[in-house]
Amino acid sequence: MNIVLFGPPGAGKGTQGDQIVKNFNLYKVSTGDLLREEIKKNINLGNKIKSIIDKGLLVSDNIINDLLIKIFSDKKLYNRLIFDGYPRNLEQARNLDSCLKKYKQKISCVLCLNVEKKLILKRILGRQTCINCGLIFNEYFMPATSKNHSCDPKFLNKRSDDNEKTVTNRFETYLNKTLPILDFYKEQNLLHHINGMLEIDQIFDEIRAIIASLET
Ligand code: AMP
Repeated sequence: MNIVLFGPPGAGKGTQGDQIVKNFNLYKVSTGDLLREEIKKNINLGNKIKSIIDKGLLVSDNIINDLLIKIFSDKKLYNRLIFDGYPRNLEQARNLDSCLKKYKQKISCVLCLNVEKKLILKRILGRQTCINCGLIFNEYFMPATSKNHSCDPKFLNKRSDDNEKTVTNRFETYLNKTLPILDFYKEQNLLHHINGMLEIDQIFDEIRAIIASLET
């Protein structure tokens, strides 16, 4: 089963993707995470990528395609992919279809997390990621404590693009470039709308029910 997690920035795609990974034998592919890894590893390309991300724009399709090639061809990941933050425009959606087809796979469902803009802002501005274990917390909704997080609090990090100005641009980019993909998936009968305003566990219950219905 291959799943696309769809929604605006801050909709909870990363958090729900992690829940799906924990409960099903799937592998999360976050193009945002792959780009952040690239920024750490590769000084020249990394600087270019960072300046685009910090403006709230989309990185070029070529860069994204290069990062994904190994994943599509990896036999261990065959039919086990959850895409978080990909595709981000129609070209990428078409590219995803043709890459999956090439490796004899397809998309099983597209889960669209719907969240109001006001809540998105609060979720993004409060977001903290542990650079040691990768867990995601939120200062307002789910602060890291000694009960839910075993790493030193010094590892908690705010993303450089999680500020008010960049978030506004990211949201605009989402409306102009990413949202049009929904029709593409609707026409293929792959789309499931999910109320992304609920608590993490409640959202996951909805997702679990959809995945279970696809498995039978
Ligand atoms: P995310 O971690 O998904 O919120 O992505 C952070 C930023 O990385 C985005 O605002 C874009 O600048 C860039 N990015 C992530 N995924 C993609 C993608 N599929 N295509 C183009 N740019 C992307």
